[in-house]
Amino acid sequence: MPKYDSWKEMPIAGVIDKPATAREYNTGTWRIMRPIINKDACINCMQCWLYCPDMAINGRVKEDGKTEMLGFDYNYCKGCGTCAEICPVNAIEMKPETEFLK
Ligand code: SF4
Ligand code: SF4
Repeated sequence: MPKYDSWKEMPIAGVIDKPATAREYNTGTWRIMRPIINKDACINCMQCWLYCPDMAINGRVKEDGKTEMLGFDYNYCKGCGTCAEICPVNAIEMKPETEFLK
């Protein structure tokens, strides 16, 4: 991020001075609701993975070619709830982050 001596030196519009830096920003700190998976209900359809705007859902393709939902990457999950909305079997519950405070 460039440093300026005065706001008058700042460019008029936003500038992306270095591309592909999204991984450096831990957007999970924005989250006020946390998605929780019920593995017993999940049918591993990966709709949540497809719709998550932050690629915060981990999954894999098993040796038999079937997909498996592994969980959430809470470093990047913003808690938008899209995964919970899209899940066809309601296997994702959104819980307040305050429940996880120590
Ligand atoms: S959308 Fe629901 S059922 Fe499908 S993989 Fe995600 S959590 Fe599992
Ligand atoms: S709550 Fe939003 S950001 Fe987090 S895993 Fe679900 S869809 Fe992705």
